[in-house]
Amino acid sequence: MKRLEHADDLRGLLDEARADGRRVGFVPTMGYFHEGHRSLLRAARAADDLVVCSVFVNPLQFGAGEDLDRYPRDPEGDARIAEAEGVDVLFVPSVEEMYGERCVTTVRVGELSEVLCGESRPTHFHGVATVCTKLFSIVGPCRAYFGKKDFQQLAVVRRAVSDLSMPVEVVGCPLVREPDGLAMSSRNEYLEPEEREAATVLFRALREGVATVEAGERDPATLRRVVANVVTAEPLVRLEYAEVVRTRDLRPPRAIEGDVLVAVAGRVGTARLIDNVTLAVQGDRVTADLGVSGGEGAGDPPGPPEVRPRA
Ligand code: AMP
Repeated sequence: MKRLEHADDLRGLLDEARADGRRVGFVPTMGYFHEGHRSLLRAARAADDLVVCSVFVNPLQFGAGEDLDRYPRDPEGDARIAEAEGVDVLFVPSVEEMYGERCVTTVRVGELSEVLCGESRPTHFHGVATVCTKLFSIVGPCRAYFGKKDFQQLAVVRRAVSDLSMPVEVVGCPLVREPDGLAMSSRNEYLEPEEREAATVLFRALREGVATVEAGERDPATLRRVVANVVTAEPLVRLEYAEVVRTRDLRPPRAIEGDVLVAVAGRVGTARLIDNVTLAVQGDRVTADLGVSGGEGAGDPPGPPEVRPRA
């Protein structure tokens, strides 16, 4: 595995690989790898000839007072895992390498960036869209893998790629969970044991929401209330939002029909955690995508280009 710090070196290497007919798979991350990251690396390894993974804790996507300074980092552990997953190139640029002394150009994806997490983190998705645009510009034509754990991020990146005609095929991969249902996240590291236990309420609330729809409920407001009530019953968790939106534009649906996202965000101790499920509802037929357990299906190649929800 090659470890590169400079954008020009990476660009040169990938241009050569493509000239030789090799297809590039790219997995952008902020590091501190867990099974969620590994599942993306495996998906890329299974589908592409040359796998690039970037580790960059992007200051632009953190707001004032957020956890940039204490975001967990483990460069050596990440390198070991990347190597074990068959990554060919690990790209670890510095902040200076990515942004120079001053960067005054940003990418803003309207509408999609303003709802859900965008309400409490108004600049977050501008940071995400900007860094992804920069990384795609360095990496060049590729397939880029993102987790559905960050569903809104996936939607924002897809939209930026489409609107700005970037030569990138975005692949959405299953959300990977701990055996008890907690969505894997580098930020779970912040949780004290009691909080770690309480944090599973986000998944339990979503499951309750799914059961409610399976039982026939089609009113978004009722579904939101059901999910919110489960979360607020857990004293160690402060609910930020429980929302029901259409997957295609993240707007509220009039009724629960078609493809909808049920998303929650909450604070547990000093961690801000998010989780979601997607539902495909056609009349009486409800198919829920709750993700996969880290132990079992995490390594399944998601199958490009579009990942279908698991029943
Ligand atoms: P991060 O390092 O947290 O910025 O995440 C890097 C990539 O891994 C993003 O595409 C995330 O959506 C994805 N990811 C993080 N956690 C999970 C998870 N539990 N399941 C699937 N993908 C994940």
